[in-house]
Amino acid sequence: MLIRTHTCGELRESHVGQTVRLNGWVNSYRDHGNLIFIDLRDRYGVTQLVFDLEDATSAGVQAAEAGDKHAHTGMMGLADKLRNEDCIGVEGCIRVRTGGENPKLPTGKVELVVTRLEVYSKTDNPPFLPDDLLELPNEELRLRHRYIDLRRPSMQKVLATRSRASMVTREYFHANGFLEVETPVLYKSTPEGAREFLVPCRNVPGSFYALPQSPQLFKQILMVSGADRYMQICRCFRDEDPRADRQPEFTQIDLEMSFVRREQVMEMMEGFVRHFWKQMCGVDIPPIPRMSYRDAMEHYGIDRPDTRYDLRTRDVSDLAARTDFKVFRDALEKGRDRPRFNSRRGVVKALRVPGGAEKLTRKITDGYSDLAKRFGAGGVATAKFVPDPAGAKFDTGCAKFLEPLRAEFVAALGLEPGDTLLLIADTYAVATKAIGELRQQVARDMGLIPPPGAEGGPWNFLWVVDFPMFERNKETGKWVAMHHPFTAPRDDQRDQFVQADVNDDDAIESIVSAGYDIVLNGSEIAGGSVRIHDRAVQSKVFQLLGLSPEQAREKFSFLLEALGYGAPPHAGIAFGFDRLIMHLCGTDNIRDVIAFPKTQIGQDLMTRAPSPVPEAQLRELHVRSTWDPEAAKARQGVGNAGSAPAP
Ligand code: ASP
Repeated sequence: MLIRTHTCGELRESHVGQTVRLNGWVNSYRDHGNLIFIDLRDRYGVTQLVFDLEDATSAGVQAAEAGDKHAHTGMMGLADKLRNEDCIGVEGCIRVRTGGENPKLPTGKVELVVTRLEVYSKTDNPPFLPDDLLELPNEELRLRHRYIDLRRPSMQKVLATRSRASMVTREYFHANGFLEVETPVLYKSTPEGAREFLVPCRNVPGSFYALPQSPQLFKQILMVSGADRYMQICRCFRDEDPRADRQPEFTQIDLEMSFVRREQVMEMMEGFVRHFWKQMCGVDIPPIPRMSYRDAMEHYGIDRPDTRYDLRTRDVSDLAARTDFKVFRDALEKGRDRPRFNSRRGVVKALRVPGGAEKLTRKITDGYSDLAKRFGAGGVATAKFVPDPAGAKFDTGCAKFLEPLRAEFVAALGLEPGDTLLLIADTYAVATKAIGELRQQVARDMGLIPPPGAEGGPWNFLWVVDFPMFERNKETGKWVAMHHPFTAPRDDQRDQFVQADVNDDDAIESIVSAGYDIVLNGSEIAGGSVRIHDRAVQSKVFQLLGLSPEQAREKFSFLLEALGYGAPPHAGIAFGFDRLIMHLCGTDNIRDVIAFPKTQIGQDLMTRAPSPVPEAQLRELHVRSTWDPEAAKARQGVGNAGSAPAP
């Protein structure tokens, strides 16, 4: 093997005259008769190689006389057969490029005149070439041959970014006294929120480990253990339904601190965000603004507002109640005795779209109704606000219902001629969610999302705080913890919470937690909370979540016991590491930032996991599969059963 002296990204004019060795893959191949040009690629770059029949002769002859098996003629014969993606090593002398400089390459001033060649391995015919300039083949093919896909320079850059990001992360937290502690991957099944992956245990028949959704309870127990400040870059596992930006296993930067309240955690994490962005992008992040959950829902219809554009949603229930529009009036009848902001109380939410009258065609606004329906609303009422000889007036859609209150709508919403008004009437929960989704779609349609700048920004960070402790699960109707069941109520809410009647829905819904999220450009990059360190509060949470004292003991005895042995006040947070990298690399596809990702239905197309296992292996694990492929085929229709799922 020709052990390399340099990498393919390293050689410059200062190396001219030196004899060097490079290793890498054939990136391109051009045969000009007496000359063969090869671009040799490794992780660091590309260098032009020249196999020059004239120039190489003397060196080749010398080598041949010395009995070298790579002597000139043999070498030219081998070079002649090289093809893209063959893996080779070369030795030769660096000279100034004779054919002129290639300004696009950092190594573009020089070339290596090859005097020795060793072919390490020839390639089979590659299914595609790892070239970022060519149109990418479909993702399925790339995932299947990930080793080729990862050779693309842009993927190599992702790997390097990820690696650097973990180093920068550790650097900050280690400098701040955090201990890196590994926690188990074979864990206990605990109802923490998401569905779990289970692992059957051979030695304890009928028992299962669960893969951790996060090391939440271990990190809390580490605080009880006196670790004081913990960090880990760890893998988390959630068996969730397919979503484009989710993976069944993903990476978190997991953190916990003792003897702190919310403020200290927020300060430490802002420091981290600043350090991280400075190191990774050279950008100074200003202090991160804060917004309450309620304001986020009121003005953006979502708990992770994208503040890169200034579209705001408004509650116009009071005005809408005075119109003759039945849709509004019916919606406002819902839960009218419930408190304001209660999820089941009727509201009418409005979104003013400046300049929308021209851009948002009927076809587009019809699409908005479909979108709103997907989120449970009846549809979207629209009206244009158009110039008129007498000033401006509502036109089209629900205009006739708004016209009598025109001046008041104009004053409330700051309407200007040329605007479009979009309105959704439903319960607070439904209307808020639907208008929030609509706001994002409108931003895309109106071209309001700023394109990335030179350093990848704009970076609009936001803390969202004061979340409700609980929400009702849409399917089961049961209370679930909005963050997780170990999140404490905000300090001023503790007594109210402990005293709340578990059957008083409105009271439970109004309890505010000590949770906090960091949002970046509309995506949640971190979430955490002050934890419960008091058994009475923890038991009440379990009771609300429908766990009997026996069930709570069975699932969480270790936590409840630990809390009884001098638990310090503690709080923490976790950053979605993959999400951070997605932001840095400017991609919406989480699979682009993970070396070996899974498809949306959790398949690894390269290794073909998951896969059936032999019956004997199942028996050893005391597991019997009830899966019946024939019955499944009959249920799905034969055509569907075998078709490949999308990544
Ligand atoms: N364990 C939480 C999660 O994975 C984060 C935290 O509260 O620290 O979302």
